[in-house]
Amino acid sequence: MKITRAYPIGFCKGVNLAVQKVYEVIEMYPHLPIYCIGQIVHNDIVNQDFVKKRVKILTVNKEEAIDSISQGVVIFSAHGTNPLLIQKAKEKNLIVIDTTCFYVKKEMQVILKYIKEQYDIIYIGKKNHPEAQAICSLSSHIYLIENLQDAKQLHLENKKIFLTNQTTISILDLKEIFEYFKKIYPSIIFGDELCSSTRLRQEAILSLNENVDGIIIVGDKHSNNCTNLYLLAQKKKIPSIMISNEKELDMHWLKNKQHIVLFSGASTPLSLVQAVENTILEWQKEG
Ligand code: SF4
Repeated sequence: MKITRAYPIGFCKGVNLAVQKVYEVIEMYPHLPIYCIGQIVHNDIVNQDFVKKRVKILTVNKEEAIDSISQGVVIFSAHGTNPLLIQKAKEKNLIVIDTTCFYVKKEMQVILKYIKEQYDIIYIGKKNHPEAQAICSLSSHIYLIENLQDAKQLHLENKKIFLTNQTTISILDLKEIFEYFKKIYPSIIFGDELCSSTRLRQEAILSLNENVDGIIIVGDKHSNNCTNLYLLAQKKKIPSIMISNEKELDMHWLKNKQHIVLFSGASTPLSLVQAVENTILEWQKEG
């Protein structure tokens, strides 16, 4: 059986910077409490390591989390945060570390520009995802939709409409929803905000040929980009599994496979992919 890796693999740039930042903060402030407001990245193994190194991850409502902290360092996640909450933390004299990814910052700037020009914004994203929550906090003129069904329920009077999206959404959903809105609002402006890490990983799945008979996506089930990779693999009709780590590998599934391709989400450390690959190689040797 042949095993290959799809690229890019391991952490994306935004996650890498955020994770490094947390470790720097741990070193820099040995005597202060350190809090992450929400999961810094959607990967349990990464978050568990932060916790071991005395970081407290607060997963309650973000505003309540800020209210509950009286001193120390607060780290805001790579997904982005409501700017008013960041301001609130600063006003409490907390040390604020904002790890918002540069792609999310750019997305926020673009949306604010259109809001200023009195556009309504249709935003394709995942309800309850921290990035979508951060974006929707920017204005009451942002309408969050998840899918085509939501799109069909939306009726806007404003002739000025800007359509955009969460950085980690599925390329195929994006295309389908854009085509729908183009018919309803011919003058709609579309700003594609998929980040390059998401786009390249999804394109890698879509470009696989028929010689591949198995896809393994290594990543956390809470990660939006991992879930989208898995759904795209299903659409390609290639047998696929999504696992958090090598212990979840089902060896029966591997039997008779000719060519397996390993993918990872943007918040999956490369070491986890390596561990999965090593486990398969060991199993092959034993077989
Ligand atoms: S997945 Fe994309 S938007 Fe999210 S942190 Fe990585 S590069 Fe940034």
